[in-house]
Amino acid sequence: MDIVLLGAPGAGKGTQATLLRMWLPWPQVSTGVLFRAAMADGSELGDRVRGYVERGELVPDEVTLAVVRARLAEADCAAGVILDGFPRTLAQAQGLDVLLAETDRALGLVADVNVSEAVLMARLAGRWQCSQCGAVYHALLNPEVKSGKCKACGGGLYQREDDAPAVQARRIQVYQAQTAPLKDYYRERGLLAQIDGEPAPVLVQRALRKAILERMAGAAGSEAFERAIDAGLA
Ligand code: AMP
Repeated sequence: MDIVLLGAPGAGKGTQATLLRMWLPWPQVSTGVLFRAAMADGSELGDRVRGYVERGELVPDEVTLAVVRARLAEADCAAGVILDGFPRTLAQAQGLDVLLAETDRALGLVADVNVSEAVLMARLAGRWQCSQCGAVYHALLNPEVKSGKCKACGGGLYQREDDAPAVQARRIQVYQAQTAPLKDYYRERGLLAQIDGEPAPVLVQRALRKAILERMAGAAGSEAFERAIDAGLA
């Protein structure tokens, strides 16, 4: 079963996907991470997407779909994936539907992580990321930002160039115009779950796990269900 994490830049999709990965045996497939890795490698794909990423614009749909198609064909994606930051346009959502049908995969849930615009701007301004494992830190919440070192892997922390205020504002605009309409697309298909993204990450994670379990098992309310949600969250 595949899961999509929908939400504006700064909504916490990456953080939530990382927490989900500790609980679900599926990889996180983040188009943003794939594009940044290609840019760092200096590959042809990296050169192709760099301008879009640096301006806060979306990479063309056909390029994005080809990257996702290739990634989903890899062996570790066979049982399911957590899609983070994809799809972001109606054409990508339709392309994903075609890809899923062709490859016998099923989309189980689209979780829309909701955060107000003021909180998004504040989060992006203080966001630091590990250059090695991608873990996300916030200047106001995490002392690691002062030391500049990731507590998980010791990698150096940096601020993404596309978190600069002007690019940030553009990314949020692009999200409202091109990605927010996907909520209706998935609501109409009975796949959308609304998750409040403003509480502490662990509480957002709890709500997300609950939505996933409800979808998978329909077992809401039992003690085993509550234990399954809280596994590894303490
Ligand atoms: P993210 O890390 O998800 O915020 O993505 C960083 C940047 O990568 C975005 O601002 C876009 O330029 C590009 N990008 C990531 N995912 C997509 C996508 N699904 N479609 C088009 N562009 C994307």
